Amino acid sequence: MAHSRRQLLRLLGLAGTGLALNTLRPASAAAADATLSERLSVCRPAGDPLQELLRRNRDFSRTWQAAERSDDPLSRATLLHETWPLHCQVRPDALAAGQRPWASVLCCADSRVAPEWIFACGAGELFEVRSAGNTAFDAGVASLEYAVAELAVPLILVMGHSGCGAVTAAMASNPLTPLLEELVTPIRASLKPGADLAQAVRNNAAAAASALPQRSALLRQALADGRLHIQAAYFDIGSGEVSLV
Ligand SMILES: [Zn+2]
Repeated sequence: MAHSRRQLLRLLGLAGTGLALNTLRPASAAAADATLSERLSVCRPAGDPLQELLRRNRDFSRTWQAAERSDDPLSRATLLHETWPLHCQVRPDALAAGQRPWASVLCCADSRVAPEWIFACGAGELFEVRSAGNTAFDAGVASLEYAVAELAVPLILVMGHSGCGAVTAAMASNPLTPLLEELVTPIRASLKPGADLAQAVRNNAAAAASALPQRSALLRQALADGRLHIQAAYFDIGSGEVSLV
């Protein structure tokens, strides 16, 4: 089993991060791994990762709204640029050797829903799974299993957003391709009578968050052990604000 895990890490270009294999390596290698882990963790919050995501989003939404009020493209760009936490960047040479993300986000593929932007994060901070409608699809759940098991990610945020095209398609009865029909099936299952689009998006995010541990024994065990928290959320594109569901 250990051999196959090591092969998997090598295939994924992660061999040598040592974050999961310390016990199998000599002391000097373990010390090097500890140093690497420290360098990869410079942007990692000391406290609750969910509260840190929300804190960073408040910064983002403030500048997002300020940019909206400006007619000058340069001042809009300057304001938004200042959102980035330039004081905190994981060095590229450390990232070349490994990763230690501190949160995972399952969100829509929509071009307006970029987690690094919304949560003011840089490379190496967020482990992202994106697909139209942010459903708990097979490859997505497997990716999150990897994030939790091998990268020890303590939080999965399942985030829907305003104006979601996939949820809109699920609410309509227009003909879809077979694969799109497959994609919207779990969204349709989460729909409740009388709900508008915003509520349907929230319901879908909550349903996907519930589906993760139902579909994965590994995630279920991590939740039971207290190593993982799963939270549903809603991103409003107009205000830039993320709210919990
Ligand atoms: Zn969407």
